[in-house]
Amino acid sequence: MTIRDIETFFETWAPPWTAWERDVIGLQVGDHERRVRRVLVALDVTQEVVKEAIAKKADLIVSHHPLLFHPPSSITTGDELGRLLLTLAEKRMAVYSAHTNLDSVRGGVSFALAEALGLRGIEFLAPLKDTLVKIAVFVPSGHVDTIAGAMSKAGAGAIGKYDSCSFRTVGTGTFRGSEDSNPFLGQKGKLESVEETRVEMIAPRANISSILTAMKAVHPYEEVAYDVYPLQNTDPEHGMGAVGTLAKSATLRSFLKKIKATLRAEAVRYSGRLNRQVQRVAVCGGSGSDLLRDALATHADAFVTADVKYHAFHEAGDRLALIDPGHWETEHVILKPIAERLKRHARTTGEPLEVFTTNIRTNPTHFLS
Ligand SMILES: [Zn+2]
Repeated sequence: MTIRDIETFFETWAPPWTAWERDVIGLQVGDHERRVRRVLVALDVTQEVVKEAIAKKADLIVSHHPLLFHPPSSITTGDELGRLLLTLAEKRMAVYSAHTNLDSVRGGVSFALAEALGLRGIEFLAPLKDTLVKIAVFVPSGHVDTIAGAMSKAGAGAIGKYDSCSFRTVGTGTFRGSEDSNPFLGQKGKLESVEETRVEMIAPRANISSILTAMKAVHPYEEVAYDVYPLQNTDPEHGMGAVGTLAKSATLRSFLKKIKATLRAEAVRYSGRLNRQVQRVAVCGGSGSDLLRDALATHADAFVTADVKYHAFHEAGDRLALIDPGHWETEHVILKPIAERLKRHARTTGEPLEVFTTNIRTNPTHFLS
């Protein structure tokens, strides 16, 4: 398996267009065509993680947090980042990062957190909006399946667990070609009237140009008539945070204990009465307190996220228990699901690939008690 195969695997699961626009994701260090046999999955790329990757003879480190978030002005042994990059280059070890694109997908960071905490019926807390369009194209008979097929292949017509979704209506198209035209049907200079099918497909906004290119490549008309409509539908496949319910209602005290143990937290900051009941729980791995209002709107009893500011605890008040076990603590739960998916992918392709997850606690912060 090459690094490019691994990039394609991640891009299919967590498309780059779902990432925060100023994020830095993808292959950070390495050669796309190099073969990969051993992968180490980590939240952060630190000296200890690189040491572990060397000991495990890994060809690639897959990290959640990008190593090169702020591009360096020099790469020397004079600073930590330079030393890391030089070691990676010397060992021919690659680094691939899936960051905010892995926050916005099913099975991503927040879903992994929700599953780790035992939530059921997990859904997105804030589905993405304005990410979908409808493409309608007018097609002469005999070409409908080819054109719909090409559009599907380029990413149109995917709805949840279904692909190749389209709606087709037969109607009449009219046109008159100019003297310079070369019409596929009829004669130039003559008003023509032909049976056409309007093929409609939903598509991610980010894929519009590749879908139109694929459609035009197989469309027989010299001038293709098509419409692209923005949709206000929420995106069922992409969103921020997650929400679900505990199998049994628990007191906040026992839920906090469970969080502390499951997420390997040294301490947990929280607001709310310890004897309040918790069953519906919203979560967002990493810095998610911007979703507090979404958590309140879904009537969650608790919201688990990280990097929560003092004023957010005040804003939550008695309405829900706001819980901050820490940034590393709410995100390291994604490492095993990444490794499992990579292993499954390798098995289906029949390629040899060993995948390890680091056990190193890369959280630089501690509590003194
Ligand atoms: Zn993070």
